[in-house]
Amino acid sequence: MAKTTSRLIALYGGTFDPIHYGHLKPVEALAKQVALHQVTIMPNNVPPHRPQPRADSQQRKTMVQIAIAGNPLFKLDDRELQRETPSYTVETLEQLRAEIGSEQPLAFIVGQDSLLNLQRWHRWETLLTLCHLLVCQRPGYSVSMDTIEEQQWLDAHQASSVEQLHTQPVGKIYLAQTPMYDISATAIRQRLEHHLPCDDLIPSAVAEFIRQHHLYS
Ligand code: ATP
Repeated sequence: MAKTTSRLIALYGGTFDPIHYGHLKPVEALAKQVALHQVTIMPNNVPPHRPQPRADSQQRKTMVQIAIAGNPLFKLDDRELQRETPSYTVETLEQLRAEIGSEQPLAFIVGQDSLLNLQRWHRWETLLTLCHLLVCQRPGYSVSMDTIEEQQWLDAHQASSVEQLHTQPVGKIYLAQTPMYDISATAIRQRLEHHLPCDDLIPSAVAEFIRQHHLYS
């Protein structure tokens, strides 16, 4: 664990359809590596032009609540689900910045697949003016960026120490050495459709909720 007392705020966005161990376990390891006291999970509204989640907003939110019950590292923020509009991370971060001020270190957690895709996000070039990015490893995704320009952007922003995440409010990308979990919500939904077990992939209480509500089958 890094020796620091700053309270780096960390957000973790996603569809969580459903939340699974590939979301939870790498972030638990990340929290130890960079001294995060709390991670706020923020399920998103999916823009209408994208494939819609199979579970509705309330069900996705409930599954997150069930998955993190009793784990003080995580808390839930449902602000994006409360909105009528699609979730754009940059807008949520701007809203949060207005609440916490410009000096508070703030980080947004993503998996390696999201980092590779980041330059397709709405107003992506603004993201690092609002937060740091903490990146968890994910099996099956390249560790280098797709283009030379993207790799240069990553190199220019890569954090050289954990301390920078605590002493600077924004602007760094930290590539964490987190354990790899070959789990995706897509694969879980497919397994459930075929009535295959998902015991090692999702918390058992979430599996029970899915069963009770006949989700994904
Ligand atoms: P889907 O298969 O439906 O696209 P997903 O499993 O990728 O979903 P999301 O809710 O889209 O999950 O992901 C939220 C965040 O969690 C993203 O930043 C993603 O990169 C990260 N993430 C998801 N699964 C993993 C995993 N197995 N390892 C590391 N990061 C992950």
